[in-house]
Amino acid sequence: MKNIVFIAPPAAGKGTQSHLLKKKYNLAHISTGDLLRKASLEESERGDYIRNCLSQGRLVSDEITLELLTERLNESDCENGYILDGFPRNVKQAIAYESWLNQTQKDLGYVIFLDIPKELAQKRIVGRETCPNCGAVFNDQIEVSKPKQDGICDICEHQLVKRKDDNDETFNQRYDTYMEQTEPLINHYRSLGILHTINEIDKEKAFQQIEKIIHE
Ligand code: ADP
Repeated sequence: MKNIVFIAPPAAGKGTQSHLLKKKYNLAHISTGDLLRKASLEESERGDYIRNCLSQGRLVSDEITLELLTERLNESDCENGYILDGFPRNVKQAIAYESWLNQTQKDLGYVIFLDIPKELAQKRIVGRETCPNCGAVFNDQIEVSKPKQDGICDICEHQLVKRKDDNDETFNQRYDTYMEQTEPLINHYRSLGILHTINEIDKEKAFQQIEKIIHE
């Protein structure tokens, strides 16, 4: 199975689609946000620095992000193919990643751009709850996405958590960062002729479209 890279604004559904793909195709799901949230718990200068970036909605340095990512990509579960959720986040990261792929003789795979309006992204952020155990995503503000039981994961019954940076203020900063740094990546991949765009906001329909791309 080829690798998949998701490019999208915050709360566009990268995590949800990654989770569905992981389950069905046995791909490793690598979220740089998750890697960084874990590293932010370290009691060190690096941990403090990452914690600060996350709480302000700013990108963590390319150097630290790449170090954590390449360490993770060397683990054995990635051999079967993996999904990159939240990386690359700017053109510099994309170029560094392309050179890592060259060195390790791996393939970039599919680049999928999940395009959603800002207003919807903001609404999704406010009510978002995720399962730290299995990665499933719910939303207590959107009827069709509510968990069956308040605060409990439908899939593994683990307690759901809310991310500290899922609030209106940090959302605006994250969205501005996206427009400034990540959006230019769309042209980067479009010019390489490997960009697939999904405009569908329904999660099942978006998943069907992704499956169509990977089966073509
Ligand atoms: P979202 O896409 O909803 O913003 P993520 O979990 O992907 O959520 O990212 C959360 C935060 O982690 C970002 O706001 C940023 O501070 C940091 N981050 C994630 N991926 C990267 C990356 N590739 N480079 C730098 N910082 C990152």
